[in-house]
Amino acid sequence: MKILDGKKLSEEIKNEIAQEVAGIKDAGGKIPHLAAVLIGHNPASESYVRSKVRSCDQVGFESTLIRKDDSITEEELLEIIHELNTSEDVDGFIVQLPLPKHIDEVKVTLAIDPKKDVDGFHPVNFGRMAQGLPCYLPATPYGILQMIERYGIETSGKHVVVVGRSNIVGTPMSILLSRKAKTGNATVTLTHSRTKDLAAEVSRADIVIAAIGIPNFISADMIKEGAVIIDVGINRVEDETRKRGYRLVGDVDFDGVSEKASYVTPVPGGVGPMTVTSLLMNTLKSSRKEIYG
Ligand code: NAD
Repeated sequence: MKILDGKKLSEEIKNEIAQEVAGIKDAGGKIPHLAAVLIGHNPASESYVRSKVRSCDQVGFESTLIRKDDSITEEELLEIIHELNTSEDVDGFIVQLPLPKHIDEVKVTLAIDPKKDVDGFHPVNFGRMAQGLPCYLPATPYGILQMIERYGIETSGKHVVVVGRSNIVGTPMSILLSRKAKTGNATVTLTHSRTKDLAAEVSRADIVIAAIGIPNFISADMIKEGAVIIDVGINRVEDETRKRGYRLVGDVDFDGVSEKASYVTPVPGGVGPMTVTSLLMNTLKSSRKEIYG
């Protein structure tokens, strides 16, 4: 079994981005600028946003973090989005989800200018993705595609089973891998909480992509010998031996599955770092005006 090392791969990609940014700087060009809006004090969101800002520093991007309290109104948040949409300086921005209950996430997503939607969540980008048009790919599926491509894993003609149908991971992943494209041409089964015999579906997969949010849900007995296992899940489980009182585990029973799989992504250090890198790649594309001119 080989590890799909997202941490190492994301460092390689960040080095490539840093070189390009150094070139832009030398030529006196505009430095790519990513902004992040963080509402409230959700510990997981704080940690994701910290890592995004740190990654910007690492590659030489400008970054702006806009922090607001849980008490912010929807109107105030929409005003911040409007300012970011019209800012000459900001190339792309994200609004970290989840948002407080009194704010409509759909309304917020729709308010983001698709040209600056580097998370790739806006329906315009989603629709363009589905039709194979230039767009910002949603960050997590984009990171997974990069990983599959750079590790030379064949997808053409393979059977992929995606577990979980969220708008940000499972559904776009199923569309991307079934496209007529270099990392695509797979036959994809999209499974979810109403799937009748999930274990039987997963057992037929050459490649499994698990995005469920249940610790260790995919076990060794469910997978085929030699399957490629991509674990998107990030779950906190109590662990008193750790200083923080918890540890992170994926949706896959890593130890069990490692005995049978050909490739597995670890958690942490697999898909997570690739997601952050994709955000940087989308921001770079925005600053180059590659997608929307
Ligand atoms: P979600 O929480 O929006 O939805 C979960 C999906 O799992 C649903 O489509 C549901 O149908 C399916 N599901 C739930 N129970 C199931 C069951 N018993 N059998 C089959 N399917 C079932 O999903 P999400 O936002 O895609 O997040 C999934 C996981 O991925 C979470 O742990 C999240 O933290 C993690 N995540 C990680 C990254 C990353 O960068 N690594 C990015 C996004 C999400």
